[in-house]
Amino acid sequence: MSFLSCGRQSGTADEGVELQRDGNLSESARPNTQHASLFENVITQFNKAADLMRLDPSIRKILSRTSHEIVVNFPVRMSGGGIEMFTGYRVQHNDSLGPFKGGLRFHPKVDLDEVRALASWMTWKCALAGIPFGGAKGGIQFDPTGYSLADLERITRRFAFALGHYIGPEYDIPAPDVNTNAQIMAWILDTYLSMVEPKHRNNSIHVVTGKPIVSGGSFGRDKATGQGVVYNILKWAEENNRPIKGLTFTVQGFGNVGSWAARLLVQLGAKLIAVEDISGGTRNLKGLKPEDVLSFTSARRSLAKYSGGQFVDHIMFLKTKADVFIPAALERQITADTADWLDVSLVAEAANGPTDPAGDAILQDRGIDIIPDILCNAGGVVVSYFEWLQNKRRESWELEKVDARLQATMHKAYDRVRDVAGEHNTDRRTAAYIVALTRLEKVYTERGIFP
Ligand code: NAD
Repeated sequence: MSFLSCGRQSGTADEGVELQRDGNLSESARPNTQHASLFENVITQFNKAADLMRLDPSIRKILSRTSHEIVVNFPVRMSGGGIEMFTGYRVQHNDSLGPFKGGLRFHPKVDLDEVRALASWMTWKCALAGIPFGGAKGGIQFDPTGYSLADLERITRRFAFALGHYIGPEYDIPAPDVNTNAQIMAWILDTYLSMVEPKHRNNSIHVVTGKPIVSGGSFGRDKATGQGVVYNILKWAEENNRPIKGLTFTVQGFGNVGSWAARLLVQLGAKLIAVEDISGGTRNLKGLKPEDVLSFTSARRSLAKYSGGQFVDHIMFLKTKADVFIPAALERQITADTADWLDVSLVAEAANGPTDPAGDAILQDRGIDIIPDILCNAGGVVVSYFEWLQNKRRESWELEKVDARLQATMHKAYDRVRDVAGEHNTDRRTAAYIVALTRLEKVYTERGIFP
């Protein structure tokens, strides 16, 4: 029987897939040909920098692959008595600079490709910030909004148990990401501690960062990613002679990162004029109050119905004229389809991977500046490093010390990226990769590759 006569027309536009006579997907008509996978986007960015800096070919081979990919399918007895199966992931990309480090995401779209990409970005981010961590990322593929707090705890603890000793305070250290927070970290910590020998419990609390303060968390970790975004925007504003007072900005995603960035910028005199989250968008050219927006969205009410602004749909939101756009939601928001709509001077990438390579090229052609994700949102992992250090040294730093050290780290990274962009006559994303890859290359060159 011919594979082409199987009752459905092959290669129809809506399927976007074509079967060859041997039943394999033809090379030219694979699904997603027009949309590369997220990890392919990382490799495109990586290759551009590796070509320009002439990265050693062996090191290039190593860094373009992940070290370990852990997939766990685990059952959870829910509070109603029934059993549900979940799939969780932890991808460890590289640990040549230190223990694997990276967040955990709870989202229905989490999959191996996404986690691979996010883990690789963590490697570059830590290397760029100059902190002694490698890169990892993980998550569970489910929608946490459909579950009670009691069931969320069961799912989280069972996942931590399934990961077992694939995580550890000197080996692989998770942190919050999309739909996870300090409470989730506290449950993971408690579950992990119940699995280690009693004598090691008190020197293992740095197995996760982003914990609640009383459980060993750091002052300033909750706002750290947003704070880092703000330090970057302030550097850009200074470089471009743009006063922060009156600077207009829009934010996509009003969770941990987006809402903190907005609150801190408004405190400095900038004006938040549009916000979009999963529930809709709102705009007010006279200025939105971030605290009001936050308390409205915290009650899980649709932002489209917020009375402090006018409803905007996705396209209207993206077309809003402002000085700065802060994507702080999910990846692949600025693409060939949307990049032309932006009417801003700067895209400050608070999210991971919000701009794909096609979108990136359009922004560059249009002269829109970009602070790339691995620089812009590094504040979170930098303060996670401070939390990890405090736990190891049994110290608790004042918020002022955390902020001062974060600011110094972000400024150093920002300046280095600007300088390297100038030296190589390239864009800042590629420059950020070059800074990170240079550090990684040095480590491999010094240590060699065994055997
Ligand atoms: P969060 O779960 O606290 O908030 C996510 C926000 O995005 C929510 O407001 C949600 O409504 C919104 N959102 C989700 N899908 C959307 C869509 N399709 N359109 C518009 N809005 C949408 O997550 P977070 O921790 O703030 O993380 C946001 C981004 O920042 C992610 O890309 C994450 O990887 C990155 N990041 C987070 C940290 C951190 O410390 N939490 C650190 C570095 C990078």
